Amino acid sequence: MTNEPIKVHAIINGEQVEAGKYAPRENPTHPNEIVGYAPVNTKEEAIRAIEAAYDVFKQWKWSEVDDRVTRMQRAIQKIKESIPELSKLLSKEHGKALYDAEGEFAVSLMWMEFACNNVKDVIKPEIKEHENGKTIITSDPIGVVSAITPWNYPISLSTIKIAPALLTGNTMVLKPSPFAPLAVSRVIEIIANEFPPGVLNLVHGEADVGVELTSNPKVAKIAFTGGTKTAKSIMKAASETIKKMTLELGGNDAAIVLEDFDVNDERAMRRMVISNFLTAGQICMIAKRIYVHRSIFDAFIEKYIEAANKWIRVGDPFHPDVTVGPVNNQNQVKYVQSLVNDAKSKGAEVIKLGKILNPELMDNGYFLQPTLVIGADYHDPIVVEEQFGPTVPILPFDEEEQVIQLHNESIYGLTSSVWGEEEHAITVARRIEAGTTMINTAAIQGLDVRFPFGGVKQSGVGREYGEEGIKSYVETHVINVPKNLELPYIPE
Ligand code: NAD
Repeated sequence: MTNEPIKVHAIINGEQVEAGKYAPRENPTHPNEIVGYAPVNTKEEAIRAIEAAYDVFKQWKWSEVDDRVTRMQRAIQKIKESIPELSKLLSKEHGKALYDAEGEFAVSLMWMEFACNNVKDVIKPEIKEHENGKTIITSDPIGVVSAITPWNYPISLSTIKIAPALLTGNTMVLKPSPFAPLAVSRVIEIIANEFPPGVLNLVHGEADVGVELTSNPKVAKIAFTGGTKTAKSIMKAASETIKKMTLELGGNDAAIVLEDFDVNDERAMRRMVISNFLTAGQICMIAKRIYVHRSIFDAFIEKYIEAANKWIRVGDPFHPDVTVGPVNNQNQVKYVQSLVNDAKSKGAEVIKLGKILNPELMDNGYFLQPTLVIGADYHDPIVVEEQFGPTVPILPFDEEEQVIQLHNESIYGLTSSVWGEEEHAITVARRIEAGTTMINTAAIQGLDVRFPFGGVKQSGVGREYGEEGIKSYVETHVINVPKNLELPYIPE
């Protein structure tokens, strides 16, 4: 991969559009190095992209599903061929370790293939003959979809939206986050080139572009992944024209460790560590607080630290032994540090985890050594806020009732995990308020793209992945053909 900065552009109606202004994206490992430039698009450019998507929708909605699948499969093949180059670009602009960037591409392709293989079945019209006549139920595309994505998983959180939206006959304008805009632009360019101009458009920029994408009357649906606070503004912006919405938001996912969890199970302990520190903790479904039954609390901590010190190796994301790279941006570093310092100032113990493989990078890059926080209060910010970084608080509990309440009193409910004897863990899981609960694993390790994913409460609205993730891009249209045309319930 070249060290020359690359430049990406907006794609509007099949054309790469030169913008008036470009913003640099720095390398979080070496912040003085510019990885590339992404446009700072304007509201006017966003409107042009929406108009293009709106105009082409008039024909595209009648396209054949087989044709759409063939186009998407060609794009999948081209993305596959580009993975060696694009995963390096992603790792460099984002800070995630190279194996992690490759993993993101693997999950994205798995989902795109699932969507290709299942769309036909999911949207096939149903015809029901019954005593009153015949009813035809079709699944129709919704229209222009505005997709807005965050920086932590830019490829998978974009393809999770693009594949079902386009395969079901919608058109789209996508805006990625300015904190990881480069590799995702390349991926979108590959996909857009396989579809008619205007079907998939790309604009970059800040909140003003996001506001246009979520309030413009020609947009029919919003597919947003990002913070809960941003989602609240989006809901307001979208309310004027009652847009459909899928919102995948923040979480404060808990790992609940029951008294029958085997602390000597090294593989389980490693899964626990990974579920806290993969991608330096910057995943919506990372386990962000661990509750451990008091009877095994001390033994758990001892074994956890052992496992963490083996798995966590902090350093240059391109170093083959590194498992945890830098944090993506400086704001996030400061936020995570403030939560840890707050806990420390209130008397919590902060234990540093893992080995530093490239000590020379630590002071210049956006690095934070992973930490375990012991002794925080149940309601301290480090426990109740989403840290979204490499730190995790661990707290004891005495009764299952108590831990279920601590879990469920959160405003969030994205994923969660219960660790222990399987049947016992399932019993506890049934009482958890979350979109997904994993048993003896957590985070991406327990993700299965065949099943719906999303949050309850302030973690979201709707589901992505699985058949539900395809259905969320269609409207149900019922065509009733009654045999008896007299209305039975109206009095003479
Ligand atoms: P963010 O909400 O700050 O930004 C997300 C996107 O929204 C960006 O593209 C941003 O430019 C855009 N945006 C900002 N203001 C806007 C506005 N007023 N109108 C429209 N768009 C606007 O989130 P982030 O910091 O990029 O990502 C981190 C957050 O995303 C975390 O809370 C994390 O939990 C969440 N997340 C959730 C999931 C999930 O599936 N539930 C997955 C990944 C990340």
